[in-house]
Amino acid sequence: MSSDFPVTDEVATDMPCEQTEQSKKMLADVRQFMADHIWPNADEYHEQYEAGGHDGYPPVMEKMKAAARERGLWNLFIPNLDPGAPGTKLTNLEYAPISEELGKLSFASEALNCAAPDTGNMEILNLYGSENVKRDFLAPLLEGEIRSAFSMTEPDVASSDATNISLRIERDGDEYVLNGKKWFSSGALRSRCKVLVVMGKTNPNAPRHLQQSMIVVPRDAKGVSIGRTPHVFGYDHAGGHPEVIYDNVRVPAEYLLGEEGGGFAISQARLGPGRIHHCMRSIGAAEYALELMVKRCHERVAFGRRLEEFGSIRQDIAKSRMEIEQARLLVLKAAHMMDTVGNKEARREIAMIKVIAPNMLLNVLDRAIQAHGGAGVSQDTFLAGAWVGARTLRIADGPDEVHKILIAKNVLRRYHSGEKWDFGN
Ligand SMILES: Cc1cc2nc3c(=O)[nH]c(=O)nc-3n(C[C@H](O)[C@H](O)[C@H](O)COP(=O)(O)OP(=O)(O)OC[C@H]3O[C@@H](n4cnc5c(N)ncnc54)[C@H](O)[C@@H]3O)c2cc1C
Repeated sequence: MSSDFPVTDEVATDMPCEQTEQSKKMLADVRQFMADHIWPNADEYHEQYEAGGHDGYPPVMEKMKAAARERGLWNLFIPNLDPGAPGTKLTNLEYAPISEELGKLSFASEALNCAAPDTGNMEILNLYGSENVKRDFLAPLLEGEIRSAFSMTEPDVASSDATNISLRIERDGDEYVLNGKKWFSSGALRSRCKVLVVMGKTNPNAPRHLQQSMIVVPRDAKGVSIGRTPHVFGYDHAGGHPEVIYDNVRVPAEYLLGEEGGGFAISQARLGPGRIHHCMRSIGAAEYALELMVKRCHERVAFGRRLEEFGSIRQDIAKSRMEIEQARLLVLKAAHMMDTVGNKEARREIAMIKVIAPNMLLNVLDRAIQAHGGAGVSQDTFLAGAWVGARTLRIADGPDEVHKILIAKNVLRRYHSGEKWDFGN
């Protein structure tokens, strides 16, 4: 049998399987912390969350954060964490199973200061921030004293193509002046949100990918205001996803992140590694959904049999188990490649898992919802809310189609150039 494709004798020897002793111990500690502090406080957290509106900071969170910090479970997500900074430095591969565990409950990551969008923002402030930015914003974020928002998407342009972003950032002496409108700046309504990472255009005449820059804006800067807040499938999430209007907002020039014109490159960095955490958490949420489904199907009786005895239910359980395992392996592979060959080389795997993980989670949740009948779409389980979250991930993290363009380009380039074909580094 002949193949049209370039063949290679190499085999994929690089699959990540082994966790370090440090990460095994850390995972065990996180599981114990979940058992001691997260699961027992879940009801209280949700009651306070419901009562708290947009502010989204149930008082019980402060207690959970203190307990996590005391156990050394803090800022586990930054592979290049500075030696003096609070937290424990782990590789992406080491962090993956921990993040999966935290993904079982929506608020668990925040208790360990590992919640989005702060994780991605902290990573870029760490990499590209001036000394003053690090002191004024990164330090309190690392301490868990404040929160942040990422302000890139605009209502008036197709923002899945970041080169369209049109908010103006103009230099004026020692300052930059911002004018424009964003929306879906998640979390910007929180009173604890003190800083916005904003993307805009510094030079509309530069080559397409060098027109953009990123800059840090204090949430209380003069000229920053909030417009309307869109709902998400009718849900009014804590922190919101509001419009943010920038009207002649002035910030010191040193608040620019990296170089002028470097915004597009930073956005690639931010939307890459930081965002694979969603994929890790998706595996955990899917595990929890399957667990609930199995429990339900064991307990519930219809037409004289337990649901678990019906063939179609068994098919659904099997499909879910297979899909979770597949997605987990790709998460680990992407994480391992980020650690070993770098984020740029891992971009195909990052793109693939960003499509696969949310779609897998949607499938698993959908089957679990079906098995729960009416209860599945009610507020009585985490399933309905989690489905909404998973569905938004197919857009919020860059639409599936955009990731697929990158994947297809990579595949076709390899075919046309005769490069190593079948596995990705
Ligand atoms: C819950 C939620 C939270 C969010 N949080 C944030 C945040 O914190 N900060 C922030 O800046 N943004 C955030 N976003 C916005 C999100 O990043 C954007 O919605 C996303 O990048 C798509 O941009 P757009 O909405 O302008 O869609 P558009 O760019 O208008 O795209 C619309 C659709 O067109 C299709 N499409 C686009 N390009 C192609 C193509 N090449 N081929 C085929 N089809 C294509 C896709 O299906 C896409 O969904 C969030 C969104 C949601 C839903």
